[in-house]
Amino acid sequence: MRKPFIGGNWKCNGTKQTVKNLVNLLNTSFNNKIDIVCAPPVLHLDYVYNNLNESYKLAIQNVWTSSNQGAYTGEITPDMVADFGITWVIIGHSERRHKVANESNKLLFDKVTSSLNCGLKVIYCVGETLKDRESNSTFSVIKSQLNFLLNNLNYTQLNDIVIAYEPVWAIGTGRNATPEQADEVHAYIRSLFYQIKDSIRIIYGGSVKPNNAKKLIEMPNIDGFLVGGCSLKKDFLDIINIVK
Ligand code: PEP
Repeated sequence: MRKPFIGGNWKCNGTKQTVKNLVNLLNTSFNNKIDIVCAPPVLHLDYVYNNLNESYKLAIQNVWTSSNQGAYTGEITPDMVADFGITWVIIGHSERRHKVANESNKLLFDKVTSSLNCGLKVIYCVGETLKDRESNSTFSVIKSQLNFLLNNLNYTQLNDIVIAYEPVWAIGTGRNATPEQADEVHAYIRSLFYQIKDSIRIIYGGSVKPNNAKKLIEMPNIDGFLVGGCSLKKDFLDIINIVK
């Protein structure tokens, strides 16, 4: 039985006041049945770390490719993250792959290995664009995004990774994959990790809301969600209540 997992990706949102309000809201709920991981913008991590109840874990939204500290202006190394007490990192979000930083599969793999080496756990995102889907390339794109992990990591390392399937066309668009579309890709991803197919958690992300979460979570290969927009409001607690 895989423990359900819900991530809240706050992306690049928040002032000191709105973050305080959100933390107060989240603190009205305490959960031990599922893993819940919130990823605030890095400037707010300290406040959230010190004020959010311990039933939530925290993730950083990005990390540098190695633990060599030094002349890398603007970057944060995985060992700094671990030293701070943060336990998770999001790697490979489509906004970083396609929009913000053009991150390649090899660069993302370096981020994954150096994070795992520092004891961090990884939410690794994959997903096809609309063009990929329309040209029937979904599976091959997903496989290419997973290849470095599949070919180079051992089972122990893979068990410290949660895979987030996030079709790019569904992120922040209000257009979510149908439960059947999502489950089909999740089943494919699970087949790629056949040695640990019963334990690896594969979560869905892309316009998850309280009104579509129930049907999605009922699918056999969907172990939870990575939530963007709705992680900034009460909807997040509603989604948690649907999953738990
Ligand atoms: C995300 O940012 O990972 C995401 C899935 O966003 P949204 O829920 O807003 O589509």
